[in-house]
Amino acid sequence: MKVLVINAGSSSLKYQLIDMDSKNVMAKGLCERIGIDGRLTHEADGKEGKYKAEVPMKTHAEAIKAVLDILTNAEWGVIADMKEIDAVGHRVVHGGEYFADSVVITEKVLKAIEDCVPLAPLHNPPNLIGIHACQDVMGPNVPMVAVFDTAFHQTMPQSHYMYAIPYEYYEKYKIRRYGFHGTSHRYVSQQAAEMLGRPIEDLKIITCHLGNGSSITAIDRGKSIDTSMGFTPLDGLPMGTRSGNIDPAIIEFLCEHEHKNAAEVIEILNKKSGMQGISGVSSDFRDLDNAIDEGNKRAILAKDMFNISVKKIIGSYIAEMGGVDAIVFTAGVGENDRSVRWDICEHLEYLGVKIDPEKNKYRGRQMDISIDWARVRVLVIPTNEELVIAQDTERLVSEAQ
Ligand code: ADP
Repeated sequence: MKVLVINAGSSSLKYQLIDMDSKNVMAKGLCERIGIDGRLTHEADGKEGKYKAEVPMKTHAEAIKAVLDILTNAEWGVIADMKEIDAVGHRVVHGGEYFADSVVITEKVLKAIEDCVPLAPLHNPPNLIGIHACQDVMGPNVPMVAVFDTAFHQTMPQSHYMYAIPYEYYEKYKIRRYGFHGTSHRYVSQQAAEMLGRPIEDLKIITCHLGNGSSITAIDRGKSIDTSMGFTPLDGLPMGTRSGNIDPAIIEFLCEHEHKNAAEVIEILNKKSGMQGISGVSSDFRDLDNAIDEGNKRAILAKDMFNISVKKIIGSYIAEMGGVDAIVFTAGVGENDRSVRWDICEHLEYLGVKIDPEKNKYRGRQMDISIDWARVRVLVIPTNEELVIAQDTERLVSEAQ
């Protein structure tokens, strides 16, 4: 089965065409500046370099057409005809309390995704536009599946997902912790169980997805029981540009003293805080590392704040689960930044955590970086959300046939 994976944002659209028999990525690429002018970047398996072109894309439907054109292009294409695409898997950010698993898209499913728009006003609308665009261009006979960032965390017990605000706000507005990056946390926890050669039902795993956006999840016997992102992705760790959790009273204080409204302050907490806000250098950990090498004190402070926040959450999740068998690092920072991994795991020997400095030198590949005697295995596992979306799509479409 050949599955097209689509991740539609407000002005961009990422795609991958995956052959599920070989798990081979046949082609992948990105449409940018949709609605403005339009730019397509495309890579095909076995082909050197990238195809880059200005392609007018007034709408997401035009972007999908451009994707199908390049996938069937004589030089850069990897299929002869659009009909070779058996199914489409869509990344959808918010499934609210409706979806605890991926789902074949029907009218009813589209309505539920629509109902979740107030919970993810920036993300669900472009995801929906992406689905409609594919349906318009590819027709009604190509099965489509939605894979939600929130679904994996639907197993959290209520005591873990509630905020201690009046209960009626949960009933009225469904304000609660949802968590995100669920596709990644699920994938790396399954890979971890495979690496350890033990059933996931026997394991307590803490997965640290540390990228531009970061979250940590406590996975007890294969089920997410707690996660650091909350009602929105702003909660939890300080990130590239997000503050993570802060005393909520700071918002009112800033509104008053900076003469801003709440939305403007939240924008600052989302876009100008975190590593960027503290360091004044960059949101990118590579830039922070360069600044740290030059002795930049605020870059050092930003990274120290990040590392201690991760450590605190790991500690709390070990307490919640009554132990841990594996700690997994994934995403851009987790897969690559050895000093982050080292600092987070330092002084945790009493818990059975100890990284081998030699193994920790490697980056971007799946490996166990613990020293031999460590009771808790520390694993680096590159995430692959597109593969999970394609696998779920294949599973659900095959089941439905
Ligand atoms: P996103 O949340 O956008 O998917 P990624 O998981 O791709 O983010 O992570 C992006 C971040 O990973 C970058 O901002 C950068 O800080 C970090 N990163 C990537 N490569 C390295 C590296 N070699 N060393 C340190 N950090 C890195």
